[in-house]
Amino acid sequence: MPADTVISGGTVVTATDTFEADVAIDGGEIAAVGAPDSMPDADETVDASGLLVMPGVIDPHVHVDDMFSIDTHETASAAAALGGVTSYVDFAWQAWEGDLSIFDEAGTLLEGIERKREKAADAHVDYAFHAAITREDPAVLDELADAVEAGVSSFKMFTAYEHGLSNGFMHRVMEELADLDAVGVYHTEDSTITDMLTERFQAEGKGDPTYYPKSRPDYAEAMAAEDAVRMAAETGAKYYGIHTTSRKAAEVIDDFRDDGSQVRAETCTHYTTLTDDVFEEMGNLPMIAPPIRKRDDVEAMFEYLSDGTLDVVSTDHCGYERESKEVENWWDSTFGANALQTSLPVFHDEAVNERGFSYPFVVRVMSRNPARVFGMAGKGTLDPGTDADVVLFDPDETYTVTADDNASNADFSIYEGREVTGRVAKTFVRGELVADDGEVVGDAGRGEFVERDLPDWSV
Ligand SMILES: [Zn+2]
Repeated sequence: MPADTVISGGTVVTATDTFEADVAIDGGEIAAVGAPDSMPDADETVDASGLLVMPGVIDPHVHVDDMFSIDTHETASAAAALGGVTSYVDFAWQAWEGDLSIFDEAGTLLEGIERKREKAADAHVDYAFHAAITREDPAVLDELADAVEAGVSSFKMFTAYEHGLSNGFMHRVMEELADLDAVGVYHTEDSTITDMLTERFQAEGKGDPTYYPKSRPDYAEAMAAEDAVRMAAETGAKYYGIHTTSRKAAEVIDDFRDDGSQVRAETCTHYTTLTDDVFEEMGNLPMIAPPIRKRDDVEAMFEYLSDGTLDVVSTDHCGYERESKEVENWWDSTFGANALQTSLPVFHDEAVNERGFSYPFVVRVMSRNPARVFGMAGKGTLDPGTDADVVLFDPDETYTVTADDNASNADFSIYEGREVTGRVAKTFVRGELVADDGEVVGDAGRGEFVERDLPDWSV
């Protein structure tokens, strides 16, 4: 029986190893990995000589088609395909009423999941959702099991913003999550501190973007993380710390990982590759919450990724235009930046070329770990029988990042002008080519919803 495709002559990278091998794909799945003479005949052969053959990137933290992004799933997923990202996890919001909200009236989690599934129908890559809890209405507790049943096994909570939750309500949710064995995902900043500092800078007319990181200090992040992870430990709930930015917050995660099983965390590409000098260089464009930090915090991200305290590197992709950033005072700017298209090449360049990390390290933090943490059993590896989500990556090609190449609706890049070595050559989603040499190929809508299982964190 011939296979659909054989990727021949490349260097396979797994979470643990790098070796010369061919990869056969059939029916959308990896059929075999091995020596050329062990491969089945194939309808199509893809020459991967000189290229790395890696599992597709899984980005478990993106914002698409809601109040935090002007991207549609079609544009965000085109950026993803070009960036070697074969699955991403967006947010399905429990509708709330407020200044930040796009919703006319309050709604339920399950409605949020249904709404996002419809919006994502045009995606080029596979997608999943975290359900975001935005209101302290106990009725949401009765929805959690149904959300898990619907393939949404993780729940986002914020300690900041108008849709933030009190410790008391988060604690109540955690009790339920512990019973369900589902994952809580936490944005942690102590908003009483960040709000007070913001108001003070506003009163003092400190609207220059260099004041932005001072309004959201690292200790405010660490304090809220400590409360949340402590409650998770006490209630027995799985804890995932989203966008860890600072040494102080990573130390908190480290303290609570001693049990070895219930705490996981991520950082983002920008916290590993940029320092707060960017606010002088680029104004409000790199305003992201929490803020891009100091050189020592960048070092801490790599230390803690290296020792496994941090598991994942995500993007926190938010599609925004310059116009919403280029305002007089930083507090009137949008928060967030696009990165789905640039994350893998920028992180690879920093980690492998600049710091000497291995290719398997990149696969661990960008593919295998997010799949494991979030219950995506068929993804994040090149093991036979799993989905053929594959990136062919040229580790030697050098190019300069520019927003002119953006497939996102966003019209800037926080990596503008950065020269990187390492470029995505081809991206396959379940065996189908979705990006080829810098062009999106094929029709939108081939992406599928990934029904996620409850993850097993004992492995
Ligand atoms: Zn985010």
